[in-house]
Amino acid sequence: MLPDFHIHTAFSGDSDTPAKKQIEQCISLGMKELCITDHHDYDSGMEEEIFLLDFDTYLPALCRLRQEYQDQIQVNIGVELGLQLHLKDYLEALASSLDVDFIIGSCHFIDQKDPYDSTFFQGISEQEAYRRYFEVTLKRVQNLDCYDSLGHLDYIIRYGPTKNQNYSYHAYQEYIDPILKTLIQKGKALECNTAGFRYHLGQPNPGQDILKRYRELGGELITLGSDAHTSPHIGHSFPQAKALLEACGFRYLTTYHRRRPTPIPLT
Ligand SMILES: [Zn+2]
Ligand SMILES: [Zn+2]
Repeated sequence: MLPDFHIHTAFSGDSDTPAKKQIEQCISLGMKELCITDHHDYDSGMEEEIFLLDFDTYLPALCRLRQEYQDQIQVNIGVELGLQLHLKDYLEALASSLDVDFIIGSCHFIDQKDPYDSTFFQGISEQEAYRRYFEVTLKRVQNLDCYDSLGHLDYIIRYGPTKNQNYSYHAYQEYIDPILKTLIQKGKALECNTAGFRYHLGQPNPGQDILKRYRELGGELITLGSDAHTSPHIGHSFPQAKALLEACGFRYLTTYHRRRPTPIPLT
């Protein structure tokens, strides 16, 4: 199975699955490598900051696991970094100091609120909320360089009142196109996050239209991840994602080692 480059473990505030269990699931699925990417959302605005990693514990623990499993699978070490504009200096200093293989840059908190929390949609139309999400994402992508791949570009549609029923790439093209162009110009990857299938969207985040558009615009760097917080979700819907990526014109996936891209043939 293709490598899963978006995996959470008990080091994340929203998972209680031991890293060992996640690694062993990847081995049982026949993966040659994986990347653990636990959450680090600094200054999220939550009352209790549950998405902060203690890197002094996290990194040595994963290094030990990398060694322990080196004959069975390549364990890469990553982080899913919460992007916020006012943290530019903090995030860029952190990213350049971390000895990791891969950094996913994700937009979870918009105006100090996560769309995961239903109050995000109070007093605002779904369309306005989605527009705000993409507008903020664009500004972050334009101004921040502290990541390798943009995580789940349309994360918000997992939680909107009508999810993706009234959503299309074209409705938000004025933001999405410049997001894609900026990623390409900066040499950043776009993530194909298969959790969308688990959220009953019938598509990854983002879906076919956006993946295809990224390719049309010249984008070549695609990372693949399940966003699994539990073992049964590792590699979720990877066969569908593979077929979708091929249909969009991609021939390679990209994995990262010491923050350098490596192409992996899709076929
Ligand atoms: Zn995320
Ligand atoms: Zn995640």
